[in-house]
Amino acid sequence: MIKPIPHSHPWLTPADLGAVTSVLRSGQLSPSPAVERFERAAARAVGQTGAVAVSSGTAALYMALRALDIGRGDAVLFPSYVCSALWHAVTAAGATPRLVDLDPATFNLSAAAARRRLTRRTKAIIIPHLFGLPADLDELRALGPPLIEDCAQTLGVRYRGRLVGSFGVATVCSFYATKLVAAGEGGLVASSSPRLLARLRAARSYDEQPRLAPSFNFKLSGLHAALGLSQLRRLTRILALRRRIARRYDRAFAPLPVALPARPADRGHGYYRYVLRVPGGAGPALARMARLGVTARRPVYVPIHRALGRGGFAETDRAWREALSLPLYPGLGNAEIERVIAAFRAAVGRIR
Ligand SMILES: *Cc1c(COP(=O)(O)O)cnc(C)c1O
Repeated sequence: MIKPIPHSHPWLTPADLGAVTSVLRSGQLSPSPAVERFERAAARAVGQTGAVAVSSGTAALYMALRALDIGRGDAVLFPSYVCSALWHAVTAAGATPRLVDLDPATFNLSAAAARRRLTRRTKAIIIPHLFGLPADLDELRALGPPLIEDCAQTLGVRYRGRLVGSFGVATVCSFYATKLVAAGEGGLVASSSPRLLARLRAARSYDEQPRLAPSFNFKLSGLHAALGLSQLRRLTRILALRRRIARRYDRAFAPLPVALPARPADRGHGYYRYVLRVPGGAGPALARMARLGVTARRPVYVPIHRALGRGGFAETDRAWREALSLPLYPGLGNAEIERVIAAFRAAVGRIR
């Protein structure tokens, strides 16, 4: 039997192995100078002046909210169509999540829907740039509340000429094993406010407090930072390889009765995920592809409003039914790309 093609797979090079080994040789596992080097490079990659590396993207979101003094009595807007990390971080900070429906053209947070969900208590909007495509940052910025950009899926991409990650008062990243830059686990908050950065740095660790205040340990190890930095140095190459595969998929699937990923002219796309819409529902195509040895996925496991047993987000429900994400990553070889194309054609062809 042929080996199934996984939905995602990290790209690890000899340089990555060398970077991790050199931290091991140094004996300075944590804290490590590799963490500061990683922070400087990551801050540049999102167009902010500084960054604080932490243990995960979820921890980064939680810390950003706390550093902005957002908590009990405050409301935070974010889309329902996103990984549940956002709900967990907002809830853990003591604030009230207010979910927003999506823009069906891009899968991102709809600025019009967000405007209808604003109240006097809205203290921030978290903007995930999903699947590699920047959200409508100008329209969202015009709404008023501070923006927290979530760049867990989108790095090194421009919106109207300016880097994503540079619009928020704070920007969070994740370096989980499946992300564009994979450190295994890891996260980061970037900002250009020295005051915010100082608060984040102080909140990262429980240690060296003259007076005890409830704290946690959110630090990133030097091993993870070194791997993250080594990968971040290849970001341009990572994005170029992903775009090349996306163009092949675009050409192959244009004749099929599906909606290809949107590519608005005023912004780039990093193709963290290649997400198509299958009208009528992605379920049967997902099952057929699995039988053909290609792992496709729903790009969001379950929308947050559904996980909470709520209704009222029609576009999110439709996206959840229709969206299908194909394997796309730098390590995907030519023969594998052809197998993905053939499997998707067969899976969708049978629907008609
Ligand atoms: C992965 C992800 C997170 C959470 O990051 P972790 O490192 O897994 O905690 C947050 N937001 C988005 C959009 C993500 O894709």
